[in-house]
Amino acid sequence: MTPVIDIHMHVLPPRMLKPAVLEFARRSYQDFARLEKFSSDPMAFLNFLDAAGVERAGLVTSVSPEVIGHTAEVNDWNARYCAAAPGRLIAFGSVHPDYVSDAAAEVDRLVSIGIRALKLHPPHQLFAPNAYRDGLGPLAAIYARAQNLGLPVMIHTGTSVFPGARNLYARPMLADDVGVDYPDLVVILAHGGRPLWMNEAFFLVRRHKNMYMDVSGIPPQKLLEYFPRLEEIADKVLFGTDWPGPGVADVRGNIEKFRALPLRPEVQRKILCENAARLFPASK
Ligand SMILES: [Zn+2]
Repeated sequence: MTPVIDIHMHVLPPRMLKPAVLEFARRSYQDFARLEKFSSDPMAFLNFLDAAGVERAGLVTSVSPEVIGHTAEVNDWNARYCAAAPGRLIAFGSVHPDYVSDAAAEVDRLVSIGIRALKLHPPHQLFAPNAYRDGLGPLAAIYARAQNLGLPVMIHTGTSVFPGARNLYARPMLADDVGVDYPDLVVILAHGGRPLWMNEAFFLVRRHKNMYMDVSGIPPQKLLEYFPRLEEIADKVLFGTDWPGPGVADVRGNIEKFRALPLRPEVQRKILCENAARLFPASK
């Protein structure tokens, strides 16, 4: 059977969360107890991946001091955590344009500690993905550096119900400018704009040569309702769960539901593994 890459998971110590967010996570994460355990024990997490049938995982973090509570410290934490199994764990890091003095230098630093992709979370970081057009200069520096280095950038799209999230920034179409201005930058639209803006995400993935999307946070059994023409973008879709996010109870169950979809076997292989393996070669 095709190995699975889950490109969108979260493992971080709950102590880094703001109190209101911690409270929200306790209430809405079905796997909160396991999250706590895994954050201090990478081997336990790897066993969990084995049991779920996941070969490799993208561990996603974003610097979001105002809404979530994460400072730049999360980058170092995540790089260290993923170093426990560099062949299996793909570290995503984040540069918040409002909290760095030299954004390009911070991108370089993240690469030097083992970060393999950047994450932007506009509704939690409180700026639009195209805010560089309105004067947010460091954001342009981040995209330009990432493009030069061949570092993929994941941009959260779709609503967030975390306390304090601002969903005006969550629209996929705000990333259209990024595709126009940084055509060689690999952009992954997380969650495909779910649940309000799937059409925008689909349009952007088709329009821009290097724009991809992940399907994390979308109940797999509903995927083809949301994206009836998914097969047309089969080369640019990445499987992900968003575990342990709200409503994501079971990684193995999500994979089984995905495999049960009426998609051609080669399409399944591309989405479950091949596309992500191309963006994140295991040898690196
Ligand atoms: Zn996520």
